[in-house]
Amino acid sequence: MIAVLVLVVGGALTAAITMARNNAVNAAASQAASSSAASPTTKAATETAAASSSSQKADLDPATMPESEDPLLMLVRKDRPLKPLDFTPKNLVSLAPGKTLIAEAATQFEKLLAGGAAAGHSLRIESGYRSYTAQENLFNRYVQKYGTAYAEKISARPGTSEHQTGLAADIGLSNGECSLHRCFGDTTAGQWVAQNATDYGFIIRYPDNQAAATGYNYEPWHLRYIGVDQAKAFAKSGAKTLEEFLTKP
Ligand SMILES: [Zn+2]
Repeated sequence: MIAVLVLVVGGALTAAITMARNNAVNAAASQAASSSAASPTTKAATETAAASSSSQKADLDPATMPESEDPLLMLVRKDRPLKPLDFTPKNLVSLAPGKTLIAEAATQFEKLLAGGAAAGHSLRIESGYRSYTAQENLFNRYVQKYGTAYAEKISARPGTSEHQTGLAADIGLSNGECSLHRCFGDTTAGQWVAQNATDYGFIIRYPDNQAAATGYNYEPWHLRYIGVDQAKAFAKSGAKTLEEFLTKP
């Protein structure tokens, strides 16, 4: 089923991703001007910038760095929203009821699940694409429950979640154990994911102890699709975060 859908939407994939990329371009500039939040310049970016000419420093700030040539490397952060904010990918493919990813990511996620199953791990998708409206509702629920400051720590404002790109998937154990909890990373299945995700084109987007770089605490379940070749290059590079990978010379 997935394979057929991929054939059908394959042409739309490039167009949609290119559109997403174009939409994301310059989003940072307007946001940077309007946001009073501390700009989380990464340690990696700082170090890289220090090694480069000082005039490049601004370009290496994750909030304002130039968009990558590869649309699958699109950088979406709390300080780097999608543009338009309500951006919707055009080629979503269903993996489970209510859980979709763009076609290429969906195909690779199914392969990841199959690889995990072959290694004895029963895994499932917990969450995939989330629309602007769904994210808005989620964020507002957290605000009502915990207040804005805490809501911003545990969630993303609509338009700034990677889930809105259709390239991010939350993975979990089929039995629900440690679902969307950091203890997922301690399970044998979670460790298998951490060791093998890049073979399928996914990275753990929010690793432990990298909140200064990514803006998020450890989320061993949150996978981001960047393409198989890029994910393998990511693993080889030794970069801990997408921000660090993108700022490597
Ligand atoms: Zn997630």
